[in-house]
Amino acid sequence: MAQGLAMFLAGRRDCDAREIFSSGHGAMAVRYGRPVVARAVHDRVVAAGELAGVASSEPHSGSDLRGLRTVAVDHGDHLLLSGTKGLVSRVDEATGFVVFCKVVKPEQTAAQDADGAWLREVPLSALWLPMASAGVLTETTVPLGLRGWSLGHLHFDNVRVGKELLLGMPGEGRRIFDTHFSGWRLMMALVCLGAATAAIEETLIRARRRSVGRISLANVPSVASRLGTAAAEVQAATAWCFSLLERIEQDGCEVDVAACSAAKALATDASYRAVDIGLQLHGSEGYTRRTPMEKRLRDIRGSVSPTGRTTPSTAFWPTPCSPMPGRPCRWWPSGRHDAFQESLFLSIAR
Ligand SMILES: Cc1cc2nc3c(=O)[nH]c(=O)nc-3n(C[C@H](O)[C@H](O)[C@H](O)COP(=O)(O)OP(=O)(O)OC[C@H]3O[C@@H](n4cnc5c(N)ncnc54)[C@H](O)[C@@H]3O)c2cc1C
Repeated sequence: MAQGLAMFLAGRRDCDAREIFSSGHGAMAVRYGRPVVARAVHDRVVAAGELAGVASSEPHSGSDLRGLRTVAVDHGDHLLLSGTKGLVSRVDEATGFVVFCKVVKPEQTAAQDADGAWLREVPLSALWLPMASAGVLTETTVPLGLRGWSLGHLHFDNVRVGKELLLGMPGEGRRIFDTHFSGWRLMMALVCLGAATAAIEETLIRARRRSVGRISLANVPSVASRLGTAAAEVQAATAWCFSLLERIEQDGCEVDVAACSAAKALATDASYRAVDIGLQLHGSEGYTRRTPMEKRLRDIRGSVSPTGRTTPSTAFWPTPCSPMPGRPCRWWPSGRHDAFQESLFLSIAR
């Protein structure tokens, strides 16, 4: 909850300020790593403030986690990692990456097709990869928003990785991914909601000062209604995110993955709409860098996709189920949702 509030306040200031309050993806290494890994990552990321990245997406497969083709070939005491990741954030800045990959035996790789279709049946694993490892190459590109750090590709050319760098057991990658990203999505959602809240407040101040004939811009009914709707949506999404964080805090590892994905989808959409209205109500200035609106719009646009609302496509609609109240539903744990969350969910499901 405290970190969520810090993220919200960071977003009010600048979406790029989010790293200041977070150990980022290093949390996975600290939580699931062997003691030696957890301690090393804690020292570098939590104590020394270095950045940790996550490398899940691959050029041919981002949303579809089963389609990942980066392999760690098991050679007994060590693994040999090969494949390409991207686009991923922090390729230049991170001290290390949590890499999602498939652990396979050498004989499996020799016998299979090169297109990697067989890898869909291999469960996902996760490991901590220090960037100083031999055989890691980087390549960067320029993103739309979120320019506080780099975005690009990571190439692994038979990188030798000690088995102690595995996070959890081989095959536990999906559980680690879902648990970590549920919280992460709420944090990113709150960064966007903080930015949207600041945009609405700044827009209201400007609109009150700006006169249109004899009244202020803020009192023009269509303006008041658009700003009011945007504020209501942003506040509803903020309340939903905090209520999910509260549940995570109470339940520990029992995370409602689908609800966190849905909350992020609602939050980023509502934030984008709010900042877009704010940008327009700033007139021509809104389209320049004299106000923070255009940066906020780019940053929120950039936050919609990364490890966020596209992954729900696998987590969000996993099995046929009915969102009707009172009907059994896999991702709506009985007795644990309230009417507010349900009505929010139903409105976005529609
Ligand atoms: C700024 C930025 C930072 C990023 N940082 C990281 C990072 O640090 N680490 C990392 O691993 N990845 C990162 N990503 C990658 C991000 O996770 C992927 O872009 C995302 O998962 C989508 O994958 P993709 O790009 O392959 O698109 P695709 O999976 O090809 O999807 C293309 C479009 O189709 C839609 N789509 C896909 N499947 C479905 C479906 N089943 N139903 C409906 N629609 C669907 C998607 O929503 C998307 O709009 C980042 C992306 C961006 C933009």
